[in-house]
Amino acid sequence: MVKTYMESSNSLPVYDECDVLVVGGGSAGHSAAIAAARAGCEKIIIMERYGYFGGDVTGDYVLMVPALSWRKYSMVRGIQEEWFTRLEKNAPDAVNGVPINELDDATPIKVDYWSSRFGAAAPARGNSPKDEKQYLVRAPYYEPNQLKIEMDLMIQELPNIKVMLHCWGTKPIMDGNTIKGVIYESKEGRKAVMAKIVIDATGDGDIYSQTGASYFTAPAGHNSMVFDTALVWRLGGVDFDLYSRWSKDHRAEAQSLVAGLRNVAGYTTMFFPTPRNDVVWFNNWLRPNSCIDIQDIKNSEFMVRNSIRRIIKYLKSVLPMVFKDAYLYDISPQLGSRSARRLDAEYVMTPLDMACANKHDDVVAWHSVVGMYNGGAPVELPYRSILPKKVENLLCPGRHFGADERAISCLYLVPQCIGMGQAAGVAAAVALKDGTTTHNVNIKTVQKILCTEQDVPLPRQENTNPELVRELEEFKYGTMLESAKKIRAEAGLDW
Ligand SMILES: Cc1cc2nc3c(=O)[nH]c(=O)nc-3n(C[C@H](O)[C@H](O)[C@H](O)COP(=O)(O)OP(=O)(O)OC[C@H]3O[C@@H](n4cnc5c(N)ncnc54)[C@H](O)[C@@H]3O)c2cc1C
Repeated sequence: MVKTYMESSNSLPVYDECDVLVVGGGSAGHSAAIAAARAGCEKIIIMERYGYFGGDVTGDYVLMVPALSWRKYSMVRGIQEEWFTRLEKNAPDAVNGVPINELDDATPIKVDYWSSRFGAAAPARGNSPKDEKQYLVRAPYYEPNQLKIEMDLMIQELPNIKVMLHCWGTKPIMDGNTIKGVIYESKEGRKAVMAKIVIDATGDGDIYSQTGASYFTAPAGHNSMVFDTALVWRLGGVDFDLYSRWSKDHRAEAQSLVAGLRNVAGYTTMFFPTPRNDVVWFNNWLRPNSCIDIQDIKNSEFMVRNSIRRIIKYLKSVLPMVFKDAYLYDISPQLGSRSARRLDAEYVMTPLDMACANKHDDVVAWHSVVGMYNGGAPVELPYRSILPKKVENLLCPGRHFGADERAISCLYLVPQCIGMGQAAGVAAAVALKDGTTTHNVNIKTVQKILCTEQDVPLPRQENTNPELVRELEEFKYGTMLESAKKIRAEAGLDW
């Protein structure tokens, strides 16, 4: 039996009151605060447990975002694309991606360069398995610490956002089924922030899981990398382009190097390029390690740090021409958290949303996705997938949103988290302006603001690109691909 301690009841100081409180400043929360501010919300507070914004992106060095385009179309725009236009202007060395005017290019010399940057060249267009040709895709790589600086600037430019760093949101304040604020802990002790609308963007459902909203966790005995933790680190003093050329000419040796890496590490790991040729990025998939279990968190941290010196020694010995001068460049400051809790939302996304190209009247993001089920064709993310059942005035964008255990693996990525966050911010602003709630917000107004004022392309709007729609219809949104047919067959659908 678990021992318990009865905490005495006491009154807490109310630190502040606001229109919208965003808990968590990762890609979803940061975008939500900015979108709400730009949509005219008067007072927004963003509360973050660490000292910077970005969450997984800047704190765990997730330094690449895939599938921002479909064919020649720049699909994922809004705050996501703004990251890169700002970095390209303010810190040009900090970003490296296929320019928008070169999307879908198949020129061999360009494909040759980009194909060694995972995600930047698609192996085929998806409509024919025999089509081996590669095409350029918008999938920028960036320097996470430079992005950290840029994310600070984006927030500081908006006077209607108040920032609370090093404040850990611990408990929702409820009045029946309506959320009224959040209790948090900081160096100043335990206090409360009251809010008309709360956006839980903690990535782990820290707030919604205590409101009575139902949610899912990783299925027992799962075999999915999306539930694994990570601790990313970087290796300097290497020559990635040389490695890339060598691995193309020595495929068998390159495969055995990767297999050797796993043996030496004791877990699945691989290195990837960064915007700098002399630095590579080590991703890893640690299992079975939950990012909401404190022993698993500790084990993940130790497991990776214990292995780093072994890995460096191994690489120097097996491929000295690339790694002889390699040194530990840095270790990311926070644990890499993928999926833990997922909201049992008003709508839970499944692979059928991709395999059937489901259309949603409340679509708030229309994203080309990593092509697991539909050849990367855009998928519609509905507002209801960030809306908890039962609980009012709470929105939950980000990697903890409403998706089933399979759909989450292609929808938890940075672009989708930003898209959902941006939609949550606009929806909160609209609900407050109209005096409605999160459940009956005027979704048409939300869509219009996203599309016309916040650079978010959506389907079936006045400014939807007709050429894109024509190409998508010709491609049948990827629904005739074998991968989509298989998903439908599993669900008993016979088309
Ligand atoms: C190792 C790894 C590699 C990945 N690779 C890619 C990739 O290549 N491309 C890609 O697009 N995606 C990738 N992803 C996925 C993607 O990075 C994340 O799913 C996405 O960034 C999550 O954004 P988020 O805002 O929902 O959550 P998070 O980034 O986790 O942000 C949550 C924020 O809330 C804060 N927070 C948490 N709890 C509290 C609390 N109680 N109170 C206050 N603040 C709190 C956190 O500090 C954090 O800042 C990867 C993920 C990992 C872990």
